[in-house]
Amino acid sequence: MSDERHLAGIGVSPGTAWAPALVFRLEFPEIPDRTVGQDEVEGEVRRLRGAVRVVVDALEALKARTLQRAGPEEAAIFDAQILMAQDPDFLSAVEQVIRNNRFSAETAFEFKALELRQLFSASHSANLRDRVADLHAIQMRMLHRLQGRTDGDPWALTLDENVIVVAHELSPGLTVQLDREHVVGLVSEEGTRTSHAAILAHSLGIPAVMGAKGAMARVRDGMMVLLDGQTGGILIDPTPDELDAARTRVSRRHRFTMQLESVVHLPAESPDGVRVTLMGNVDLPDELEAGIRNGAEGVGLLRTEFLLTGRSAMPTEDEQLAYFQRVASAFPDKNIIIRSFDLGGDKFPATFEAPHEPNPFLGWRSIRVCLDQPEIFRPQLRAVLRAAYRRPIWLMLPLVTTVEEVEEARELLAEEARRLHAEGLPAADKVPVGVMIETPAAVLLADRLAEVSDFFSVGTNDLTQYTLAVDRGNARLASRFTAHHPAMIRQLRDVRLAGEVAGLHVSVCGEMASDPLDAMLLAGLGYRALSVAPPALPAVKWLLRSVPMAEAEKAAAEALEARRAADVVAALRDTAARHVDVRLLDAEGAVARPLVPR
Ligand code: PEP
Ligand code: MG
Repeated sequence: MSDERHLAGIGVSPGTAWAPALVFRLEFPEIPDRTVGQDEVEGEVRRLRGAVRVVVDALEALKARTLQRAGPEEAAIFDAQILMAQDPDFLSAVEQVIRNNRFSAETAFEFKALELRQLFSASHSANLRDRVADLHAIQMRMLHRLQGRTDGDPWALTLDENVIVVAHELSPGLTVQLDREHVVGLVSEEGTRTSHAAILAHSLGIPAVMGAKGAMARVRDGMMVLLDGQTGGILIDPTPDELDAARTRVSRRHRFTMQLESVVHLPAESPDGVRVTLMGNVDLPDELEAGIRNGAEGVGLLRTEFLLTGRSAMPTEDEQLAYFQRVASAFPDKNIIIRSFDLGGDKFPATFEAPHEPNPFLGWRSIRVCLDQPEIFRPQLRAVLRAAYRRPIWLMLPLVTTVEEVEEARELLAEEARRLHAEGLPAADKVPVGVMIETPAAVLLADRLAEVSDFFSVGTNDLTQYTLAVDRGNARLASRFTAHHPAMIRQLRDVRLAGEVAGLHVSVCGEMASDPLDAMLLAGLGYRALSVAPPALPAVKWLLRSVPMAEAEKAAAEALEARRAADVVAALRDTAARHVDVRLLDAEGAVARPLVPR
């Protein structure tokens, strides 16, 4: 929707919020061209160095604060800025400009920063373009400091009433400094789900919408803004009725949440006594807490691409180990299934140098990248083995299409296990190695893959995409992207059977498992382990506890007979409706987002 009052962006941090806007126009301070006398030149150089020290100290303080408020991985976001602020080549170029031209420190700094900015912006490398936001932040701090403005912190805000901050671009520095008490939402024109600021907003639990083009032109200070951090919808100047509707949605959600809370710490056991294990999917470290709170029985899919987000270099083995240990200690004695890097496709962190390809989803991605670039894969395998020392940690390989891929990965893993042993580092000798079933090839070959695998987990997001030839990220095809297609239901049955014949643990970790009705279908098809987005755990459990397994099995049998996706949905709804008020599941956002921003 894009009438005058509606804006569409990307929901990057869930929650509904409304408040007057605080439009944050962060303009670069005017820097007059100023020259100094020859006898003042060295003083300007000293002033430049002093400002660098102050700015680096401020960034270190922010890093420490982020460590406390979010976590070590989030805090590492500031490393790139700290390194850049002290870059010796850049600073000596600025000093040279001061000395050669007798420019003041701020004039020289501005001059060189502009040069660098143009160079970064023109670059074809995503990594360098990403650095523009970091450079922008440093430039702003340095110029503020050199102009003697307050403490050189242009992001300092003092608030005494609730606001939604609207900005062209949100830096991680601004996001982490926000007054959590009064800033109830964030909107920015730039940014995506993987922007530094988006990750931080999510970790801090501030509902946020990014990529909202036109926000700065349309929203003025003090205008009431209503945002939905899940769908990315923004409503400017809502009417009293619209605000009432938002309140009603939130309160309906609240009532449902109260019902869900009563089941959170009960087992996912059907009324006729069949138990399903519900684990959590973890993409970002802040989801650990939601997983624990919502009763996850371990982690069924630990996505590891986050470790590369916002980084200037690949994460080291030790950094990965620290993260895996953090996850494992959040779930003592529970299984953690670590998925190896799933790069390419739709996941291109700046550190990953990938060639341009016309069809990235059919291109160099996932296990293919890891096997072709052992320098990426080996440190991860070592970190997994070390984390698995006396801990139930499993390794899962994404997008497998051949037996050889599994065998090759196993060889590398065994080699690294031997090396770790020789190095005398505490590490597991081996870990269970499983395969993600994400392509029709893997489904058809499941019996053979089972011979080289310890477990299967079905990635229904990719399996739907590759089965139906529907791009999972194409909004125009969204209605055609459905795991209810009968071809999907049959494959889900076949994988489960192949796993059973081979005696393997089989689970589903795609988004399908996070939808309560679909989770019921999967249980009816015989799946006894599901890995679910943490906010969806209570609703999935609530439904599984309400519908007898015998009924879920009947619904699954009907789904297997169905000719159309719509028939599958109807069978599921009818079955559930005999036991619960299914309208509760329709309550907008009831399942996928937490009620209260954390
Ligand atoms: C999937 O494809 O279903 C899956 C779980 O992996 P991702 O969504 O990370 O591709
Ligand atoms: Mg996948």
